[in-house]
Parts: sequence; structure tokens; C-alpha cells
Amino acid sequence: MSKSPRATGAENIEDRPNAAIDRRSFLASGAAVVAIAEAPSAQAAEAIAWDREVDVVVIGAGAGGLVAAIAAREKGASVLIVEKNFDIGGRAMMSFGGLYIGGGNRLQKAKGVEDSADRAFADWSRPEKPMGRFSDRALVRTWADNNLELFDWLEKNGIQWEAYRGAPDRLDRNRTRLNVVRWPNEPTTPARGSGFVRPLEKTARRMGIEILLQQQMTKIHRESPLNGRVTGIATIEVDDSYRPKTRTMNIRARRGIIIATGGSAGNPVFRTMFDVRLTEEYQAENSEWTERTGDGEIAAMEIGAALGATACQTTQDDNLITKGRMGKKSNGTITELYPTSPHFFRARALGLVVKDYQDVILVKENGLRFYDETVPTRDYEYYAAALAWTGDPNKFNGGGPIWAIFDTDAVTREEWDVKPPHVDPVGYFFSADTIEELAGTSGGQCPARPCANRWNGTIPSSTPASMPISRSRGRCTRSPSRRSTRRGTRPRFTTPIRASGSAPAPRSSICTARSFPASTRAATPRAASVSTASAGPQRSAASRASMLLRNRHERSSSGGGSPRIASGTR
Ligand SMILES: Cc1cc2nc3c(=O)[nH]c(=O)nc-3n(C[C@H](O)[C@H](O)[C@H](O)COP(=O)(O)OP(=O)(O)OC[C@H]3O[C@@H](n4cnc5c(N)ncnc54)[C@H](O)[C@@H]3O)c2cc1C
Repeated sequence: MSKSPRATGAENIEDRPNAAIDRRSFLASGAAVVAIAEAPSAQAAEAIAWDREVDVVVIGAGAGGLVAAIAAREKGASVLIVEKNFDIGGRAMMSFGGLYIGGGNRLQKAKGVEDSADRAFADWSRPEKPMGRFSDRALVRTWADNNLELFDWLEKNGIQWEAYRGAPDRLDRNRTRLNVVRWPNEPTTPARGSGFVRPLEKTARRMGIEILLQQQMTKIHRESPLNGRVTGIATIEVDDSYRPKTRTMNIRARRGIIIATGGSAGNPVFRTMFDVRLTEEYQAENSEWTERTGDGEIAAMEIGAALGATACQTTQDDNLITKGRMGKKSNGTITELYPTSPHFFRARALGLVVKDYQDVILVKENGLRFYDETVPTRDYEYYAAALAWTGDPNKFNGGGPIWAIFDTDAVTREEWDVKPPHVDPVGYFFSADTIEELAGTSGGQCPARPCANRWNGTIPSSTPASMPISRSRGRCTRSPSRRSTRRGTRPRFTTPIRASGSAPAPRSSICTARSFPASTRAATPRAASVSTASAGPQRSAASRASMLLRNRHERSSSGGGSPRIASGTR
């Protein structure tokens, strides 16, 4: 097992090629970050009319950005955070608020749990651990070495610990997740993540860190496009739906910028670089709070940074892929917004949580079942099946919405309220008396017909009963269930029949953007790709590519193209 640099003193982390993300920066950021600015030269500073000037500019006021900003301020820097949403928090706000930290802290000791930096590192670099096996091990090592310090630091900055989760989290050893105490009066969401971001927001403001909301970073300034020092950023003011307004700003960063923009899982073009199946039909989980359009990665690539650890986009961790809620656009797991939340207009519905998947038939865009609905929600196989090719010669990658078809008895059993704000009747929830009507009501969007029709076609209409669901995959066969009707009766949908749209939603994307010192470029494969992109013609190709990424994303989110894309990717 490799030793912690701190423990052995054998290696100076500053000497590593990726020293741009050093131990301190990592502690300060915790996530995808690049800190690449130095003092701007007079020449670069003169070329741009700066509207603001600080030591450190942090882009994004989510988990990483808030932590980074406070850490920079602690070191005496003047710090400004730009955040494109109208509230802080990022998707951390909607998260479960459980930290995977340990290392032998006092809460672990009190419970008699033995843990250490080495154990934490070993746990998170095991090949059988999907959430960690694709991670950059140098970063994991840094994280592990800082577990104890991070615990104390977070506590000092306002985080209150609830307790470690009672049950181990699947593949965890030695430690479970350490839950934070939910922010007591959070008016937007019942999710525990508020207990992480709100205390940090409070601390940041108390320390004099300015947070500019509804300011979207659009560009990172560098002395020359792919060389020299980073000098600052450009922003544009955006409205509640992230539509650009007219006011722009140039903010000079005397000592550095930190990108903490939360990943790219919500950018349909960008994410297909990592997994070609993630086409535009799919949601980024909890996108009502934060878009995750890869702004940081794109801006960093435009000035010559390379991306690292991109396989984390789809880590194959079952936890990252969920069936989620039904009947709403953005497919969250158990987290939700209050209908009174100012963000609710983006979610439009709370969604239905399915307690027992015996109660629904899940069909894909081709109208056929594709998986055993009753297997546990956390199941990577489910995700793979949902994304599998279903025979459409015009659509090889990705799939489409998943529709949950269920009847009135199911509504009763699940104790659902199938009205707004629980469901979104604009495109995600339909109701009808027959399967044929259902397909009609949904304007053909819900393709329940082939499967459900075959199902009902075999059943005499005189025997209304609840609908047991077969466990066989992809077929509309019937099997007994504990809720099936008496022996001899033939189950049938009880009307009205409902269809709730939903889709598998990739939850996280984690890339690290890196700049490499010129001397290391030729030496490392990733660095080589940066320097290739910096040559003349290739540079235009790189710029064109990133324009494409931006433009194609803008088109898909602004409703160009098919209505499906316009409705926000189902
Ligand atoms: C349902 C759910 C549960 C989760 N549970 C846990 C958990 O229990 N434990 C755990 O460790 N992790 C959990 N996570 C993951 C965790 O929330 C993320 O890993 C974490 O929030 C990432 O932090 P971040 O700062 O990179 O991004 P975010 O927290 O998403 O913050 C990014 C911020 O950058 C802003 N931004 C983006 N682009 C721009 C731009 N161009 N200009 C200005 N601002 C911009 C965004 O609006 C956003 O506010 C969960 C996630 C979800 C969705």
C-alpha cells in the first residue's frame, strides 16, 4: 500500500505533475477544481477593462466552491464567488448530506470504530468499489490524508454532525457516511444537504466573502489564449431560467481562480464524450437546483486545460443511477423541493415515489418492458437495460423516457395523490380509461400500447381487479403476485389507467480540469493533448469544438429541435 506523503515524507506533492491540485487546494475544494492563476502581467491586465478585482475568484457556490472560498479567505485572500443560480448550494443542497470522511475521528473513536488515512485510501481505491475505482488515486490519497483535518475544519466552520449512518453503505468498510444536521429553517427543500451548504454560506458571508448570485462565468481570461497566466474571468448576468441578460463583467483575479461548477452531467453533448448512451432524453438528477452544463470544464479546455478522471461520469455505481420519482421532469431520488420553494417552477412537480414496483409496469420508448421492475432500485443492470438499443434503426444510442403504467388500485395501494403538485400533467403524467385512450391522451408520447394492450387483450373485461406484474423481462406476461386476484380470476387494469413519465438520471459527473506546467506537457499523455491543441490549426479546431459543445447544448436546452428535447430531456 502506498503511504501518505504526509506520513512518509518521501514525496513532495508539489513535485508531482498534477501539483496544480495540491493538498491545500484539495482541502479547499473537495471536488473538481483547477486553481491556475498567478499574478497577471501588466500587458494582460491592460487589455481587459476590469470591473472588479480580488485576490481569488471562485466559480460556483456549491459544496466545493464554498469550502474553497473560506479556505482562501482564511489565508488572507480577498475572495469573490460568482454563482449563476439565484441561491447558493448547487446540487449539494439537494444531497443526502452524508460525508464519507473518517480517518479515526472522535465520533468513530467513541463508537469503537478503528479507522485511519491508510484505511480510507484503501477503501476508496479498491477495484470492486464503483464509486472510487475510477478516481484519480493521487487525489484519493490526498483526501484520505486530510480526513481528520477536514473533520475539524468543517466543524470549525459551522457544520454540525448528526451521526454516522447505522448501516454500512454497500461497499464501505470501516466507516459509514457521516450525516450532517439539516439546516433548521431551510425553506426550499427537506434534503439534508442544506446542513452542509447553509452553515458554510453563513461563515463565508461572516468572513466578508462576497457572493454574486445570477452571475454566470462565461470565459476564463488568460494572457494569451493557451499560454501565460490566468488573469480573471468574464461573467454575464442571467435570469431565473439562466437566460443571459445584457450586463457583463470582467473580474480580475490577482492570485487565482477556482472552478467549482459541479460537473457536466446536464450537458447532453458533453456527457456523450464519456458515455455515448447518455443522449438528450436523459435528465441530470436534481437539475431543478443546478444545471451542470459543464461550464467550468469547457472554459478550462478553451484555455488549454486537460480533463482528468472523466470515467467518473458514469461510475457504474448503482447509487448514481436511479429509477427515481415518476411523473415529473427531473428525476430525483428521494430528495425534493417544497412546492413553495422559489426553485419549484423548474421542477414543476414533486413526483411519485414508488413503494412497491409490483404496482407498476415500466415500459421504454418502444412500449415494451425491459427489466424486472421489482429488483432493488440501486441496480446498475437496470440502468444498462434502460439505455440498451431496442431495435430502432434510426436511434442506436440512448433510449427514451421510461413510462410507469399503473391502474387505480395501484394508486390506492401506493397512497398516491395523482394531482399537481405531485405530478406534472404537462408532458409527464397522463390518465385515461383505456390503453388506447392513454396513448391518444399523451399525444403518442406514452407508448404503453403494445405492451399493455397485449396484456389487457387476454383478459375478459368483466373482471376488474388489480394488476399483478410479471417478473419476466421485456414481455407482457402475467404472473401471480401477492396482490393478484383470487385464483381463477383474470386480472385487468382498473381504470383510469395512468402513465407517469420518467427516465434514468445520471446523478453525478466528476471531472478534474488540469493545467500542466509547460515542462510536463510533452511528458504525459494528457498534457500532450493540451499542447497539440495549442498549435495553430489545432487550436481553431479546439475552439470550434468547444463552441459546438456550447451551442449544441444551448440549442437543446432552449427548445430547438424536437419537442422532446424542448421539454427538458425526459
Ligand atoms: C440526490 C443527491 C444526493 C447526494 N448525496 C450525497 C451525499 O450524501 N454525500 C456526498 O458526499 N455527496 C452527495 N451527492 C453529491 C454531491 O452533492 C456533489 O458531489 C457535490 O455537490 C459536488 O460539489 P460541487 O461544488 O462540485 O458542485 P455543486 O454542489 O453542484 O455546485 C456547483 C455550483 O456551480 C454553479 N455553477 C455552474 N456553472 C456556473 C457558471 N458558469 N458560473 C457560475 N456558477 C456556476 C452551479 O449553479 C452550482 O451552484 C449527492 C448528489 C445528489 C444529486
